Amino acid sequence: MNFETVIGLEVHAQLKTKTKLFSTSNNEFGDDPNSNVSIVDLGLPGVLPVLNNEAVRLAIIAGISTNCSINEKSTFARKHYFYPDLPKGYQISQYDEPIASNGTLEIKFNDGSKIIRINRIHMEEDAGKLIHDISENSSLVDLNRAGVPLIEIVTEPDISHPEEAIEYLKRLRKILIFAGVSDCDMEKGNFRCDANISLRPIGEKELGVKTEIKNVNSFKFVQKALEYEIVRQSKILEKGEEIIQETRLFNSSNNKTYSMRTKEDAHDYRYFPDPDLQPLILEKSYIQSLREDIGQSYDDKTKYLISIGLTEDDADILLSNSKLIDYFDKTIEILNQPKLVCNWIISELIKYVENLSLEPKNFAKLLELVKDGTINNNSAKDILLKISKTNQSPEDTVEDMGLKQENSEELLNEIIDQVINSFPDESKRINDGEEKLLSFFMGQAMKLSKGKGNPKIINRLLKKKFNIN
Ligand code: ADP
Ligand code: MG
Repeated sequence: MNFETVIGLEVHAQLKTKTKLFSTSNNEFGDDPNSNVSIVDLGLPGVLPVLNNEAVRLAIIAGISTNCSINEKSTFARKHYFYPDLPKGYQISQYDEPIASNGTLEIKFNDGSKIIRINRIHMEEDAGKLIHDISENSSLVDLNRAGVPLIEIVTEPDISHPEEAIEYLKRLRKILIFAGVSDCDMEKGNFRCDANISLRPIGEKELGVKTEIKNVNSFKFVQKALEYEIVRQSKILEKGEEIIQETRLFNSSNNKTYSMRTKEDAHDYRYFPDPDLQPLILEKSYIQSLREDIGQSYDDKTKYLISIGLTEDDADILLSNSKLIDYFDKTIEILNQPKLVCNWIISELIKYVENLSLEPKNFAKLLELVKDGTINNNSAKDILLKISKTNQSPEDTVEDMGLKQENSEELLNEIIDQVINSFPDESKRINDGEEKLLSFFMGQAMKLSKGKGNPKIINRLLKKKFNIN
């Protein structure tokens, strides 16, 4: 029998706020265990949650960026379950009234595109973390993550192939990063995916029984897990047996999924509206003002970047990190050379971007020095390394480091003559027609000039010397 695959994805993205969803504890990855925990995160009796305004703003922006309707009224509910990383015994989440619903996200392929419908985006708090591998006989609990703000973005079961699922995830991630909603750093666990998958006979309208693969933390693993499930489920169905609705875990060492637990139904969680939290009522004017703030969409911005001379890959890299694209925008305001600026950002500046003191003004100045021939590329890289941390003026640094480019043809010719004298055999060979030795002479001349020679001029002079066109 021939089956078709049906996939729906639930993505948890951690919101880029300073503090947690309902408390003033820091929302910070990597701090000492249990150092960002307040009485609210612990759920001590008598404390009250207070909703984080910034988290709401980011959730709305996520909704707008995925073409959702923003719901003027949404509510928080308690989702009950027991686990050592959940001290309250319930998670505060949104249930039947989420903050955003009915969105779309378009994914693109070589031969066309497809709209994936988004069912809803809701806000919820994260749980803590259990650590099993530090001590032999016990597990440890770190509650720094308890109460961290998340949005969960749930698609309709519109995805028909593991590759489509990956396209969707990549695109969603780009959009959320671009909108400043989340860093979507998968290694830090702030972009996590649960994948739901079922099969049905081709032509069948009704959905088959699905399994849910929990918390897969890389795109490759999502794809592997889905591919494995397709084979596993089709074998079961071909035998005429039934799929058990369950939650499964992916093991990346053998690319298989394993049953974790039979799927709980919503009623198992005993959802009810959280009596400590008022419904969230948003003013139309507030939603509208956020719409205006966002301005360009990811797609518009990509089109704009291509229109000023960048490639799609350039645009992708710049837009993958809000610091890069901000820096690019600011630099081209000063130095209107988009391709040059982009090349330097994505090949060099990117190395320092997390700890950057250099102002775009000085970066632009550095590139101008390259352009007007004052320094060569390699010197510029050395200078950039230095001033990335100090924001020292590039002109002063050129002086300090003695890196001013040597453009005098007279001097460069002297250098070339010295090189030719030092390498008589190579000179003979190149004169006999072995033109590929040109790069050898280039290298020697650059070396003798202590890296300061203007490579373009040296190249031209060498060619003249050896009668190469
Ligand atoms: P649950 O109650 O199990 O969480 P939901 O209806 O909330 O299920 O859907 C969760 C996700 O699973 C959604 O992304 C949805 O599109 C997807 N989904 C639902 N039913 C199926 C199915 N039969 N096959 C594949 N995906 C499904
Ligand atoms: Mg669900």
